[in-house]
Amino acid sequence: MLIGTMNHPERDIQAEIEWMADAGMEFIDLTLEPPASASWEVDTRAVRRALDRHRMGVVGHTAWYLPMASAIPEVRQGAVDELRRCLQKFAEIGAKWMNIHPDRHTPWHPRRFYIEKNIESLRQLLPDVAKHGVGLMIENLPGDYNSAPQLGELLDAMPELGLHLDIGHANLQVPQNTTREILAAYGKRLRHVHLHDNKGGNADLHLPLGAGTVDLHASVEALQECGYDGAITLEVFTPDRGYLMHSRDVLRKAWNDGVRERSAKSQLARA
Ligand SMILES: [Zn+2]
Repeated sequence: MLIGTMNHPERDIQAEIEWMADAGMEFIDLTLEPPASASWEVDTRAVRRALDRHRMGVVGHTAWYLPMASAIPEVRQGAVDELRRCLQKFAEIGAKWMNIHPDRHTPWHPRRFYIEKNIESLRQLLPDVAKHGVGLMIENLPGDYNSAPQLGELLDAMPELGLHLDIGHANLQVPQNTTREILAAYGKRLRHVHLHDNKGGNADLHLPLGAGTVDLHASVEALQECGYDGAITLEVFTPDRGYLMHSRDVLRKAWNDGVRERSAKSQLARA
């Protein structure tokens, strides 16, 4: 399992990579968003060189506000064009997966409409996915895409899509955290994980681990039960990086404890 974090879109990417490397981050969750990390301005060769220098991996993240289901055709096409450009940039940087936030901002339209428009936009990207060898994964979002049936409306329609599970989001606007439910249905398609804390309800607080109600032990157990051993982004938004370092340490410990518990259990079962 690898631990990383996300760059801030207002800050210089190179400077972000430097502090992350100093902090022992094993990959960058690279979001290509203006103002400071716009897809049309990013120097992909310089980013690749910096990642090589620090032996860091990379996963692709795109702006969360792209209107890829817009009821206005030209606006929707604009979002598709931006995602297409991101796919190319991520290929140049060496990412294998790029995240997408399904859209839902279509006032006066039924759910069916924006589901179909999301699918239409995602399908338009498939030739670029094949050309660049960068896969698409969709992230669960509080409200409209936060349960297995809701995500299934996209994942079942497009077997090419990977699942990007945000465990903090899975804790919001739901009677109970939907991590287990989502993994039970689509765990085999899990390609990336975001982890941060909150207090349930509506507020997407992106707190350090342990500061809210997300059960870290249960989250790690659920990921390990479905065989996940990939990258986890600490999407902890705090001006004091000490809280990010604390989150890194408690996640690494919980993960290693989980591995040990599982191997002890399987030895007992064999004895
Ligand atoms: Zn996230």
